[in-house]
Amino acid sequence: MSPQVPVVEHILSANDRLAEANRARLDAARVFAVNLMASPGAGKTSLILRTIRALKDRWRIAVVEGDLASTLDADRVAAEGVPAVQIATGGECHLDAAMVRSGLDRLPLDSVDLLIVENVGNLVCPAEFRLGVHRNVLIASVPEGDDKPYKYPPMYRGVDAVVLNKIDVLPAFEFNIEYFRRGVEALNPGVAFFPLSCKTGEGLDGWLDWLEGELRAYREG
Ligand code: MG
Ligand code: ZN
Repeated sequence: MSPQVPVVEHILSANDRLAEANRARLDAARVFAVNLMASPGAGKTSLILRTIRALKDRWRIAVVEGDLASTLDADRVAAEGVPAVQIATGGECHLDAAMVRSGLDRLPLDSVDLLIVENVGNLVCPAEFRLGVHRNVLIASVPEGDDKPYKYPPMYRGVDAVVLNKIDVLPAFEFNIEYFRRGVEALNPGVAFFPLSCKTGEGLDGWLDWLEGELRAYREG
């Protein structure tokens, strides 16, 4: 009697299928999409506002704002004159591909070059839900402490860039950038790393150059 051979089949989860559909839709409209993840208060919205102000003369930008309930962040983004869609997750602590799809439904994708997705502030589960975007970025900040990569490894493993915000307050905190960086490198060797301050503007050029470079490469690809 031959042993039963299990048929191993890679089955995409429902979320992954929706994420692939999102990606196809973005690509059809040539929209480069970036997902920003961070704990609450790390500065996702501040980085988005800085990025919009720096790039909006050259690129058409739109934003999907994931928030538990309020429209505060979406209102701030819309005040910059770019299309912004609020996704109220109704208490869910992450965005999923279906929520992003409902955001895409409400945006003029054919007249957008760069879509920024602000995920819900959370360092645990956003990493588990693919959205269909082209790049994933994690924003850490100095007040959170330099041990975050050691405590939340899955968030650091899958991302394409790590931003360290609020370097203007470094003197007030026991934050060892080298220790932080070593933790990041152990999980994600060679990942792009941008220490910066959304408040003072220090270091923003490195982030903007990277983002614009990725966007340009996508548009030319
Ligand atoms: Mg925000
Ligand atoms: Zn969650």
